[in-house]
Amino acid sequence: MYLAELKFKVIADTDFDQAEAAIRRYMEALIFNGQLLGREFPTAWQQDCFVSRIVLPATEALKQQYHSPRGLAALQQLAAAGLGYPQLSVLGMDLMSNHTDPCASAPYYIVYSRFNDTCSPLRCGEHFAPVPLYLLPAAAGDHEALIRWQLQYQALDEIQMQQSRVLRHSAERSLQQLHSRLNRQGRQIANTLARLSQTPVYYALYSGSSQDCAAEADKPCPGCGQAWRLAQPLHQLFDFKCDRCRLLSNIAWDCQSPSNVQGVN
Ligand SMILES: [Zn+2]
Ligand SMILES: [Zn+2]
Repeated sequence: MYLAELKFKVIADTDFDQAEAAIRRYMEALIFNGQLLGREFPTAWQQDCFVSRIVLPATEALKQQYHSPRGLAALQQLAAAGLGYPQLSVLGMDLMSNHTDPCASAPYYIVYSRFNDTCSPLRCGEHFAPVPLYLLPAAAGDHEALIRWQLQYQALDEIQMQQSRVLRHSAERSLQQLHSRLNRQGRQIANTLARLSQTPVYYALYSGSSQDCAAEADKPCPGCGQAWRLAQPLHQLFDFKCDRCRLLSNIAWDCQSPSNVQGVN
């Protein structure tokens, strides 16, 4: 990922509100197409221009050819708000985020996110590196559905990470039950993406706690009831994989603690 600045020069009469609204519209269109990462784009006023600090998945992410129809429309509207064409300067590699996947086309993808991710929720099946969404075909003009799914997923993951909070268990249920609204939505998006990209898309099902740690390693696939344990963990993260249901999961984190592994419980 790359840290960069995007400069919007004021070239005609405008007021702050109008210029800010136009910049916001443009940035949100880029975010919902996976061209910008994260939700924040701190923006400063400098003499004759607005400068926004952004994180890009790749240095060429803002090329017009990658814009969604909404992004192109927002780009046109910048001029109407008295702003010039945005000028990009890449400051360098972002040391805090993962490296973008090197594959031209991945053998399969994984929809995966955690609360502290600042990257694409789509990973390459081979390298487990984040794949820029703007490179993939989108169902409704852009990838807003997947980005919005990720925002919800991360919010719930953040809640369930907090110990002894009232909402912890309901958040965990949303993340780990196959048929929760969140997971139904995520799998539906994965299926659409698989159809459009003609590439299998697996869904990573979170597993945090279990009623029965002794049976956890042999639990069946929650989708089809078949055995799905892998001989070797995949990407040092997934112990289970079902090719029929396109699901990946892990031995519940609570059952992986040293006391449980030794059977002391
Ligand atoms: Zn890859
Ligand atoms: Zn299955």
